Amino acid sequence: MIKQTYLFKYSATNIFFNMPISSLTKLVDVKQCVIITDENIFALYKVKFKKYNTIVLKAGEEYKVQQTADSIIKQLLEFDADRNTILIGVGGGVITDITGYVASIYKRGVQLGFVPTTLLAMIDASIGGKNGIDVGHYKNMVGCFKQPNFILFDFLFLKTLPQKQWQQAFAEIIKHACIKDAALFKEIQINNLQFYRSNKKALIALIEKNIVIKLGIVQKDELENGERKLLNFGHTLAHALENLYQLNHGNAVSIGIAFAVKLSQKITGFNQTSAVIELLNKYNLPVELNYKASKVFEVLKKDKKRNQQELHFVLLNKIGKAVIVPIPLQEIEKLL
Ligand code: ADP
Ligand code: ZN
Repeated sequence: MIKQTYLFKYSATNIFFNMPISSLTKLVDVKQCVIITDENIFALYKVKFKKYNTIVLKAGEEYKVQQTADSIIKQLLEFDADRNTILIGVGGGVITDITGYVASIYKRGVQLGFVPTTLLAMIDASIGGKNGIDVGHYKNMVGCFKQPNFILFDFLFLKTLPQKQWQQAFAEIIKHACIKDAALFKEIQINNLQFYRSNKKALIALIEKNIVIKLGIVQKDELENGERKLLNFGHTLAHALENLYQLNHGNAVSIGIAFAVKLSQKITGFNQTSAVIELLNKYNLPVELNYKASKVFEVLKKDKKRNQQELHFVLLNKIGKAVIVPIPLQEIEKLL
């Protein structure tokens, strides 16, 4: 049963679930806060930022770079932001990533809060304490781990979220179901995107389930030495494809999941491949791309999770049960 509004804690993070952003004034000292958001969110929700010092960034992954971080730091200095400042990222994954990054380096670290405004940021990017920026074609190449002091979930923001963004988030929701939760897999098989968009109660319950899955994994392994690697399901190929082709993260992950289940079928004897592919199709996510295998292989070889002559691939034994399997590079080359 979903409660209306509630608070739960994981490590040092307070999670304010289903709470309007206006309640922030009761939780923090407004004078000490600086909000970081992007131009689209600012244009849509200007009134909500009235009381705060606000830094507005251009929207888009191409601005998740050091130059933007530098410009944020300059503006923080202009605001006289000190060690007691609380930086609050209000936005999607780009905003939470760069806000977390700046909060971890500005004056050697200040307090950090998130108000995720996309479904993807709510169920993935805002949780787990990873932050970072891109360097050239390489995503999230620079950054660190820093858990936020709080995350506030205000579902009102989703009212204006474009359809494309909803679809992207389902790639990660399907990922969570595949690696950890067969019941969730069944649930999203029965329902569809339109159902969640029009049924607030079901949507909030879905978000809560996904937060619990991600938190459960992250709590066991904050620094990604073991269990957390399961979250890379579909991501090994996805990162290579994102590097080479202009693909959204969710679309790349979906193609990566489709590849990983076919690979699982060969290696672990996984026998639910068509169910996963059909589910990705159902949420309008791509399952194929006509990529150049030799180019993709070159990028995969450079994957930061590579361990000498093998790649550690996340595969499925069955839906809800993932395993990490080392696969020799020559083998991968043949399978692409
Ligand atoms: P994510 O990585 O979570 O998909 P991004 O930070 O890349 O999110 O944001 C995707 C796009 O959606 C950006 O253009 C952003 O301005 C826009 N956006 C974010 N939240 C909302 C919202 N609640 N309503 C409308 N547009 C939004
Ligand atoms: Zn992802």
